Amino acid sequence: ATPTSIMVGTGRAAEIGVLFRKGEALQTLRDVSVVALDKTGTLTEGRPELTDLTPASGFERDEVLALVAAVEAKSEHPIADAIVLAAEKRGLRVPALQGFEATPGYGVSGTVGGRTVAVGADRYMKKLGLDVAAFADEAARLGSEGKSPLYAAIDGKLAAVIAVADPIKDTTPEAIRALHDLGLKVAMITGDNRATAEAVARQLGIDEVVAEVLPDGKVDAIHHLRDGRRKVAFVGDGINDAPALAEADVGLAIGTGTDVAIESADVVLMSGDLRGVVNAIALSKATIKNIK
Ligand code: ADP
Ligand code: MG
Repeated sequence: ATPTSIMVGTGRAAEIGVLFRKGEALQTLRDVSVVALDKTGTLTEGRPELTDLTPASGFERDEVLALVAAVEAKSEHPIADAIVLAAEKRGLRVPALQGFEATPGYGVSGTVGGRTVAVGADRYMKKLGLDVAAFADEAARLGSEGKSPLYAAIDGKLAAVIAVADPIKDTTPEAIRALHDLGLKVAMITGDNRATAEAVARQLGIDEVVAEVLPDGKVDAIHHLRDGRRKVAFVGDGINDAPALAEADVGLAIGTGTDVAIESADVVLMSGDLRGVVNAIALSKATIKNIK
């Protein structure tokens, strides 16, 4: 492509809210065959809500919620906001927190009024030496509904299974259909559990799912999707997404996402709308065709 055609192409893109930080990305995008999407905050709103809380026998619902909210009050994860808000909505008094520890990709724990409280993914409970088998059916049901199951432990005992659900953005289904119409494969990369990720993927017609990815595992997920030959575009918004945005053949950041993600990307989508990805690819194909 000539420098002039790239300038015209990137200028046209800017008019529709797609900022090319690197001009080469306009050429590379044309050759992409897989578009990989982060789930939370990219496919979804990134604002989960608490939908379920089932206490284990010997535990009481509001007590568990108050203790868990006390720990989550110190976390910045979107799941934490959902839990704190749910406790506030029920008018619970959230006790003070003493110790706090976050294990990225797993969960959080702390001490509340002398009791140890942990909340997080099933792998976090395993790490803490707890068996979540008692809640296997419940977790499978929640996952099949696209909800994300979490577990709470209090004083070393499994105390509850909790679910949060994050709504899919209104514009996501149309964007995925349009990517398919362009002949592209669509993949999802997420730290969330497999059953939940697969339920969401099924609902959206997503072709490939890489789930239960640890925060530093998204680069490996890109390599896996590249499969030695395919060119992969990755779309993400979070701090966790920055290395994968840099690693992908083309990294596209959601403009409402974190600064680190934006700085690591080749392309910035000014709105949170995934139809910007479709526009960027369509424009790339049109621009490069014109100058051939
Ligand atoms: P994602 O937000 O895409 O699921 P993360 O790597 O941030 O990816 O988290 C992976 C999983 O770890 C979450 O789905 C959740 O199960 C658990 N987790 C992480 N942080 C927290 C937290 N503050 N509270 C509860 N669970 C958490
Ligand atoms: Mg995200």
